[in-house]
Amino acid sequence: METTKPLTNFIREIIDQDIAAGKNFNRVHTRFPPEPNGYLHIGHAKSICLNFGIARDYKGLCNLRFDDTNPETEDVEYVNSIMEDVRWLGFDWQERLYYASDYFEQLYEYALELIKKGKAFVCDQSLEEMRSFRGTITEPGKESPFRNRSVEENLDLFSWMKAGEYKEGSKVLRGKINMNHPNLLMRDPVFYRIRKASHHRTKDKWCIYPTYDYTHCISDSIEVITHSICTLEFEVHRPLYDWILNELDIHHPQQIEFARLNLSHTLLSKRKLLELVEKKHVGGWDDPRMPTLSGLRRRGYTPESIRKFCEQIGVAKADSIVDLVLLENSIREELNKTTPRVMAVLRPLKVIIDNYPEDLVEEMEAVNNPEDPSMGTRMLPFSRELYIEEEDFREEAPKQFFRLTPGREVRLRYAYFIKCVGVSKDAQGKIKEIHCTYDPATRGGDSPDGRKVKSTIHWVSSQYALNAKVRLYDTLFTQRDPNNVPEGIDFTANLNPNSLETLSSCAVEPSLKNAVTAGRYQFERMGYFSVDSIDSSSDKLVFNRIVTLRDTWAKIEKKL
Ligand code: ATP
Ligand code: MG
Repeated sequence: METTKPLTNFIREIIDQDIAAGKNFNRVHTRFPPEPNGYLHIGHAKSICLNFGIARDYKGLCNLRFDDTNPETEDVEYVNSIMEDVRWLGFDWQERLYYASDYFEQLYEYALELIKKGKAFVCDQSLEEMRSFRGTITEPGKESPFRNRSVEENLDLFSWMKAGEYKEGSKVLRGKINMNHPNLLMRDPVFYRIRKASHHRTKDKWCIYPTYDYTHCISDSIEVITHSICTLEFEVHRPLYDWILNELDIHHPQQIEFARLNLSHTLLSKRKLLELVEKKHVGGWDDPRMPTLSGLRRRGYTPESIRKFCEQIGVAKADSIVDLVLLENSIREELNKTTPRVMAVLRPLKVIIDNYPEDLVEEMEAVNNPEDPSMGTRMLPFSRELYIEEEDFREEAPKQFFRLTPGREVRLRYAYFIKCVGVSKDAQGKIKEIHCTYDPATRGGDSPDGRKVKSTIHWVSSQYALNAKVRLYDTLFTQRDPNNVPEGIDFTANLNPNSLETLSSCAVEPSLKNAVTAGRYQFERMGYFSVDSIDSSSDKLVFNRIVTLRDTWAKIEKKL
């Protein structure tokens, strides 16, 4: 893990002040509280790095707590994926794995306490009635006709609710706070609702389920959390968080809000990501185009690069959109230093070197990573028939095209200078192969007479090449802010129809025969690629492009 000193931020400043003041006996205890209703995304990574990072740096603790109070939308598949993703990111909750559902009994006891204090009541209003009684920001609410039930009646009704006596939606337990409160969330909010649903952990034990607001603060308190860090949208919930804990007079963590991560050309909402999966706009939660941690992992992102990105973007109090280029740069920087470079031709064009002996095969020495000489060299077979990238040849080349064209000489990386002497075409006039001659004196790619060429291109021997499938990706959405759609238009209207391009007949150098699952490479000039962990096999290599060598699309965008 990183050893550099962490950057400070306003949350760390609050913690520093708390420690200086001797608050919480100098303890720092945070938690990461996902709801198991989807896979984690890069936004969650920001929260994980923040919560676990603070615990690490202050020699404190961080819990993993599943906020599992909505039985209908939650599932063990999500629980398991979340644990896998947090571990993969490099964090450890040790023995502190908790579930809000573990607290159902305690939460119920606390509800009884609030009823006894006259601070909660059973209400028979329907959802619509409650809504119409709530008022607006400019108008006060109206009190529910059930608000003044006696403590005894409330205790009775609540226990019958728990026993399953009533229909869903017929009764709720509400806090008795203030129907004129300027904050609408304080106008007698719902604490419990009836749900005749089986829960993935408590099964059919409960048919009343506590709401998020009621559960979250009490769970934090039970776990003796010191700093309850959450995203900005919970700022308006803070008075309720504080009210419940004050009324119960139990340990009171401090809620601190920060701006959630928004990433350009990306959606970070589990609900919308679920929709993409369910409607098959993507191949699954781990589709390499998805901003989920499982998608990024399959794409080839490393945990280090994601942690570094989270560190770099910092923690702020105001919402903004972070450019995707920052995430890409983070992985690019790392892979530049760590990955072996190999030659892979994505769109092969056959080259025949007319003056090269037919049965000769030479071994050319190639450097594995010029950034790191300790990574050594490898030998590449060179033969009379090769593949080069289709785009590296033009029969009729514009002035600024310096690569191969009839009559022009270029360097084949680590091999020879070659000159194009002819083109052969099929009956339709499509180029079948090109003919070249080579200069034997330029072996290794240097000319003894100081002759210069304007470009160096990559190649693989057609005889020794391995066939591979390569998937190239573009952003999943065309708009910088995919949430920004006109009324009545679905966000999926912004999906990029060209987000995936699959090339099935790529030719890669033979050393990739030993490519390991999830291995990462730089394909010279083409970008960074990873071996797909699911679709790739020893008979059929499948690569995903993690990122291009430079942020080409960002430049394109600037031109528009
Ligand atoms: P979503 O909006 O994607 O459904 P959520 O907030 O409902 O996310 P939770 O499972 O409740 O998802 O989130 C767990 C934790 O992660 C919360 O503390 C939440 O504030 C935080 N979190 C969620 N999304 C982001 C984000 N984009 N940036 C930073 N933190 C986030
Ligand atoms: Mg949530």
